[in-house]
Amino acid sequence: MQKSNPKKIIRKPQRQNRPGKEFMMEPAPVYESNKNRGSGKLEGKIALITGGDSGIGRSVAALYAKEGADIAIVYLNEHKDAEETKRIVESYGKKCLLIPGDLSKEKNCANYVAKVHKKFGRIDILVNNAAVQYEAKRLEDILTKNLLKTFQINLFSFFWITKNALKHIPKGGAIINTSSVTAYRGSAGLIDYATTKGAIVSFTRSLSANLADRGIRVNAVAPGPIWTPLIVSTLRPLKVAQFGSQVPMKRAGQPVEVASCYLFLACNDSSYITGQVLHPNGGEIVNG
Ligand code: NAD
Ligand code: MG
Repeated sequence: MQKSNPKKIIRKPQRQNRPGKEFMMEPAPVYESNKNRGSGKLEGKIALITGGDSGIGRSVAALYAKEGADIAIVYLNEHKDAEETKRIVESYGKKCLLIPGDLSKEKNCANYVAKVHKKFGRIDILVNNAAVQYEAKRLEDILTKNLLKTFQINLFSFFWITKNALKHIPKGGAIINTSSVTAYRGSAGLIDYATTKGAIVSFTRSLSANLADRGIRVNAVAPGPIWTPLIVSTLRPLKVAQFGSQVPMKRAGQPVEVASCYLFLACNDSSYITGQVLHPNGGEIVNG
């Protein structure tokens, strides 16, 4: 087994209420590397990103827009973060549809997909990315209320959004699901969360086989520790201060260092890749 580094304090401890707000984080996450021109890898495409207001989703929205895609975003209620993401998308001359709402219900998921279809007429790229997590020291401490929520948002919404989106995804389309390093190595304090992330790997593999004949590719990304609002709103302040110090690179990743995986999996550069998982995780070997 790979040895991990000792935990170290590498930033100021902090804590926010759920859902976390990117505009309140210190230091601010890095969602973009530069304002250079894109290379047109997604010219004319339409992308739907759940949880696209902040964190990894925002960075993916920014990069997709830079590469020529119009964007639709579903998010819970972080309107200030969502407006900022819209501003970033529009800075590349692209459209951004904001859909605030709760993905934990099937009817809502159908409704959000219908809104995207009405505005853009098609969905070329679907990024299933919204998630919640609730720390619990022991299995006995996991509240059923939180267990259900974790499964509804992290896993069932992926089924419901995809099920409704499929009729609008043409041949050549791409679906990208956000899993996690916790799917591969487990997580003692996030048992239910890690379980949903493992299920997402199986969902990705199964759906990729199911959709290969329809010309739609399905892949996943399994990030390691990434500096996002999810972290500051769900982990204890000391854990936040140490977050990322244990991986071989001894730091958390920035959303921008993850977004490139989503671009690769969305565009033609990965035309022969389906059912696979990419691992932007600072060097943790997970063999998956
Ligand atoms: P984030 O908080 O920026 O993004 C998660 C988003 O999910 C939120 O912005 C929120 O609007 C949305 N969301 C939550 N509940 C919702 C609901 N009921 N309805 C609609 N939207 C809802 O944090 P992030 O870290 O960028 O998370 C993005 C993905 O990355 C998640 O799937 C997360 O599990 C995964 N991930 C994150 C890390 C990390 O270290 N940050 C590591 C591995 C995987
Ligand atoms: Mg958010």
